[in-house]
Amino acid sequence: MNEQLKRLGLTQLARVLPTLLDEARVQQLSYEAFLRQALETELGGRQQRALERRMRAAHLPRRVRLEAFDFSFQPTLSERLVRELASLRFVQAATNVVLLGPPGVGKTHLASALALVAMEAGYSALFTTLSQLAAALEAPVTRGGRYGRLQRYIRPHILIVDEVGYTRLTAEQAHQLFELVAARYERGAMVVTSNLSFAEWGGLLGDDVLATALLDRLLHHAEIITINGRSYRMRERMATDTAERSASGVGQNLSAVTDSTSR
Ligand code: ADP
Ligand code: MG
Repeated sequence: MNEQLKRLGLTQLARVLPTLLDEARVQQLSYEAFLRQALETELGGRQQRALERRMRAAHLPRRVRLEAFDFSFQPTLSERLVRELASLRFVQAATNVVLLGPPGVGKTHLASALALVAMEAGYSALFTTLSQLAAALEAPVTRGGRYGRLQRYIRPHILIVDEVGYTRLTAEQAHQLFELVAARYERGAMVVTSNLSFAEWGGLLGDDVLATALLDRLLHHAEIITINGRSYRMRERMATDTAERSASGVGQNLSAVTDSTSR
């Protein structure tokens, strides 16, 4: 029977059929119930493989979950709003999400976790940083004409552009970024994270007019979330420092410690 299952491409079922048959005998399943279980097993296997494919294609830096996010550490952040985003209505509506705040407050964590929820629901995602994106947008066009190099960034249901603000763009990169935002406008959701205020985007793009036009499209349908909190990385560092200090008995001026681990 394995042979027929494989020729039909029912690979998951082929793998687990002996177990399913044993269980069916023990539970004395009806023909109908057994067939349903067999088909559901195959479907489950396919969904799992499709999710793994989407995950690989998304290039998330880490598989972090919303459940691992400690909202009590970040009181300026509305948990209700983040949970609302996790309902994925923003993906259906092609609404953007902009996460603003200093290093270490959880912007990348939240962006990745939302992408994970979306992929589990069957959407595709792509994670990139602005510096990676800027480099890719400057690469020579090999095929697909004007939108050739943009296609990869237009296609996914969610495009995450992380760390907007650490890279100043060339005129060509700024122009391409505008083209990308314009192409996704009202078509696909973007999740953007930045440590800059919008007023500083002119400097980033080297062109105030272009920055205004880009922000106009990016923010027309957008949820803007500002996190004005402490760095979670610093919290971990402080905890280690405190432990080390009490272990060695040496005093230390913690206020002089800066977040050098950011970015
Ligand atoms: P940002 O992108 O804002 O600089 P990250 O999302 O990279 O910050 O967060 C830094 C680290 O701290 C990551 O390992 C992240 O998972 C963790 N982290 C940040 N905020 C929280 C939080 N509120 N609860 C749990 N982990 C957090
Ligand atoms: Mg980050």
